[in-house]
Amino acid sequence: MEAYKIQQHKYDVIVVGAGGAGLRATFGLAEKGLKAACITKVFPTRSHTVAAQGGVAAALGNMGEDDWRFHFYDTIKGSDWLGDQDAIEYMCREAIPAIYELEHYGVPFSRTDDGRIYQRPFGGMTTHYGKGTAQRTCAAADRTGHAILHTLYQQALAHDATFFIEYFVIDLIFDEEGVCRGVLALDMNEGTLHFFRGQAVVLATGGYGRAYFSATSAHTCTGDGGGMVLRAGLALQDMEFVQFHPTGIYGAGVLITEGVRGEGGYLTNSNGERFMERYAPSAKDLASRDVVSRAITLEVREGRGVGEQKDHVHLNLMHLGAEVIHERLPGIAESARIFAGVDVTKEPIPVLPTVHYNMGGIPTNYHGEVVQKKGNDVDSVVPGLFAIGEAACVSVHGANRLGSNSLLDLVVFGRAVSHRCAEIIKPGAAHKDLPASVLDKALGRFDGLRNANGGTPTAKIRGEMQRTMQKDAAVFRTGETLDEGSKKISAVYDSFKDVKVSDRSLVWNSDLIETLELSNLLSQAVATMHSAEQRKESRGAHAREDFPDRDDHEWMKHTLVNIDENGKSSFDFRPVHMYTLTSDVEVVPPKKRVY
Ligand SMILES: Cc1cc2nc3c(=O)[nH]c(=O)nc-3n(C[C@H](O)[C@H](O)[C@H](O)COP(=O)(O)OP(=O)(O)OC[C@H]3O[C@@H](n4cnc5c(N)ncnc54)[C@H](O)[C@@H]3O)c2cc1C
Repeated sequence: MEAYKIQQHKYDVIVVGAGGAGLRATFGLAEKGLKAACITKVFPTRSHTVAAQGGVAAALGNMGEDDWRFHFYDTIKGSDWLGDQDAIEYMCREAIPAIYELEHYGVPFSRTDDGRIYQRPFGGMTTHYGKGTAQRTCAAADRTGHAILHTLYQQALAHDATFFIEYFVIDLIFDEEGVCRGVLALDMNEGTLHFFRGQAVVLATGGYGRAYFSATSAHTCTGDGGGMVLRAGLALQDMEFVQFHPTGIYGAGVLITEGVRGEGGYLTNSNGERFMERYAPSAKDLASRDVVSRAITLEVREGRGVGEQKDHVHLNLMHLGAEVIHERLPGIAESARIFAGVDVTKEPIPVLPTVHYNMGGIPTNYHGEVVQKKGNDVDSVVPGLFAIGEAACVSVHGANRLGSNSLLDLVVFGRAVSHRCAEIIKPGAAHKDLPASVLDKALGRFDGLRNANGGTPTAKIRGEMQRTMQKDAAVFRTGETLDEGSKKISAVYDSFKDVKVSDRSLVWNSDLIETLELSNLLSQAVATMHSAEQRKESRGAHAREDFPDRDDHEWMKHTLVNIDENGKSSFDFRPVHMYTLTSDVEVVPPKKRVY
């Protein structure tokens, strides 16, 4: 192995990722007087959060009655009773101060006539525990993520945090006692290696949507944090739950926000029928995402799809009028024109369910601390390691996330991590002496991949993985397809041993970076498929045709999955937290989930 020269940096806290979650944590830490470094592989404002359209949920009640307890109930029901109720209570209550904070930081929200934050209806968001429709989703037109991310970056710059931009984090570094001590990273611009030491590492690396062929997520959403966690021998949670957004543009996969239906848009089949009325008589087009995605899939399957292949449906917003579209949904009009050649004031948009969000991820408590099951302690904290945002599984989204609850999750738990770190870390505390050998494993793996000289190009293996996931870990699943998919995805995993990296350079070597990303995607693809195979029930986004009902007796529990070096998975479980933090809300017991 080449003798790499490693530069060392010391900070109180290392944040990996500069999306909404990472930025909120970074400046929160700096604000508390902690020396924080934020490391990111893309320029901060290019993180996927920038693409979020519809908005961020908080029961402000600006546009009609609302209460955070209604939000709490909706989120539990949306999660199909897999969400941890303590964490959901924390998120829904903290939503209100967190959004006012964003407003004060300068997020340019759309406004009501009397100057308050504009809020739109979103799927599954109700008042009075399912009786009315809530207008809860705070929006900056249909560019909410853009507005939030830019404001958070400005705040981060205003505070004293240090950014390492276009640095790729390769692996987590632990000491011999299992305490996370930092990360190993590659400066892609200079081609140099760096060991960032911290009293804590916060993973805010986003989702792994790119394990699939057609996803609304950016090409950079490769789940690097989850990959690192699995390599460290730690478990990921609830990986079988992958959200399909009902309205990706047919063919392109580009997202059309649920906000379109929130503003009054609706779906039709080839008979021109508003079919959601049959599947969700009261919520109709604003039922939860899993429900709408399944309805579209069934319409197409039963021959009522539109287009030449009868393989998609229509989303109509012509009736809203040019003025509303221009003011509230300008980005959608543009995307539809560019990616579907459609003028939304005159024609419907062709849409199809598309992979959108990972409910599963790195298990944490509501402080953002990574937890694992250790003997009788089901929530044992991994010292020095935190995770937030889409990379994490708190779990506030359970088996199905409600639209506009993810941007909320980013800011609430980004903030929570900074509070927690301020409690447990002393600014400027000395770093433990570590032997040089702590880096050996990570460096060895890196060097091995850099020099990988097999016969299969990275892109080929990635394509096989993406097609397998798309086909066999889809909206509907059966024992047969999951069994076949599990074998296939394991074979794809094995084929990575034969990967070829054609360029040995350390400077702007996209082949090397894509190979590192693929290795992270692959372990999570295996985790997803195998977790889906073992869960023999239907819950939220996990819909099994051979087990069509939810089975609370057997399966109201979180899946924990480990993947070993050979791609073999092993399983364990954690109970769902059926308790709250205060007596301000009552635990919502499971019941049938209808919209
Ligand atoms: C098109 C689209 C629209 C959406 N709309 C909404 C919406 O309206 N409302 C809502 O609530 N949710 C929405 N979502 C979901 C939500 O936007 C995402 O879940 C959320 O933005 C994820 O934020 P994050 O901070 O966790 O990660 P990201 O924003 O994905 O950022 C990840 C960060 O990690 C860094 N990173 C990753 N790996 C490495 C590595 N190895 N080394 C260094 N840095 C690394 C990246 O550089 C990046 O800065 C939408 C999602 C999509 C895809």
